[in-house]
Amino acid sequence: MAEEIMQKIVSLCKRRGFVFPDSEIYGGLANTWDYGPLGARLLQNIRNLWWKKFVETRSDIFPIESALIMNPKVWEASGHLASFTDPLVECKICHARVRADKPEDMEAHTADHPGEEVTWTEPKNFNLMFKTFIGTAQDSKQEVYLRPETAQGMFVNFKNVLTTERSRLPFGIAQMGKAFRNEITTGNFIFRTLEFEQMEIEYFVKSADWEAAFEGWKEQMWDWIIGLGIEESKLKWRAHEKDELSHYSKRTEDIEFEFPFGWGELYGLAYRTDFDLKNHSGKSVEELQYEDPETREKYYPHVVEPTFGLNRTALVVLLSAYTEEGERVYLKLDPRLAPYKVAVFPLVSNKPDIVEKARDTFAVLRSTFAVSWDDRGNIGKRYAAQDEIGTPWCVTVDYQTLEDNTVTVRDRDTAQQERVNVDQLQGYFQEKLK
Ligand code: ATP
Repeated sequence: MAEEIMQKIVSLCKRRGFVFPDSEIYGGLANTWDYGPLGARLLQNIRNLWWKKFVETRSDIFPIESALIMNPKVWEASGHLASFTDPLVECKICHARVRADKPEDMEAHTADHPGEEVTWTEPKNFNLMFKTFIGTAQDSKQEVYLRPETAQGMFVNFKNVLTTERSRLPFGIAQMGKAFRNEITTGNFIFRTLEFEQMEIEYFVKSADWEAAFEGWKEQMWDWIIGLGIEESKLKWRAHEKDELSHYSKRTEDIEFEFPFGWGELYGLAYRTDFDLKNHSGKSVEELQYEDPETREKYYPHVVEPTFGLNRTALVVLLSAYTEEGERVYLKLDPRLAPYKVAVFPLVSNKPDIVEKARDTFAVLRSTFAVSWDDRGNIGKRYAAQDEIGTPWCVTVDYQTLEDNTVTVRDRDTAQQERVNVDQLQGYFQEKLK
């Protein structure tokens, strides 16, 4: 059943243009996916909402966009070179590599060798950073890494943001962008991929205030995900045990989602102490302390870091929206996330007056919303096609439109129809999208 639902989502995503296997014409690349016309819109809608909630409407959070390839000294100071590793064991029969800290993966692999006794090599730490080279000489001086998290870009710019924004604690730096990890355990569609996008905030506070900030961010993260229409019963907080904490963290809690393949991390909230600013201060040419404007006291701010995975958000949104009612399949997407808000149809395609009126309506709506056009097949099929991609409203221009300037607006979730005057359509949808 669980597998079936994932297969249905993967197949819908491919068929309708949300997500394609990457480099498909060359047989693809494992655990790498591309987003099609609808998927790109979905991602952009999530980014926009996140940006609005956590950047645009706040005076204490400043956005940046830092480079994907940074000076490799950053990763030395941050501890990633030494500690950003997964323990790895190798199957002595087929030499497949599996994560030693995921007993379920080892069990699953054992099942691939029925009747054989699987034995493993001793665990070895495997660094998850992708290495590459600058320039032509592949000597070690030129070695650089693709960033495995967006966070360090914000720490190395701490002073720059502090100075240019004249910010005072508490304040945050936010960025969204790609991160790369040479994951050993991959799979589950877009859940775990080699490259993915993070939307992340480093929130700087006085050391005494970290717990209050942590609790505050727990609430804000929960609000955000519930606000996207995700069912509360499918979400939970899980605190990391001491032995699973990242090398920089004193306390971490994840929001987990009940995926068809089990509970898995959706977002993380970490208390990174003053680990990063302190380390960069010791190892770089800059002292990353903060000077209290009142007391003139100098100290390292402490950091609470909420991280949101964009691609896992998209997966959770799609899984939650997927609805089957008898023969009918639709994506019950929050209208703000839907790739298209409205679809416009001429009832028939062989009556120039109707087609022209529909084209005009389409053009007017398109100036404000993402609108789709369809004039093929019968209306029932067109509704079904829009339902399947989550378009909340379909507008049909028909014979009556030519008489009284009204169109049929049909609602995706209720399938109810009402007549609305063309001149009022813009405001009608704006109201619904609030
Ligand atoms: P996991 O335990 O699943 O490997 P993690 O604890 O390594 O995740 P973090 O370092 O906390 O993940 O990364 C922050 C967020 O980035 C995660 O909550 C998740 O949403 C996203 N993320 C991390 N790794 C991947 C990946 N390989 N593919 C897609 N999204 C990812």
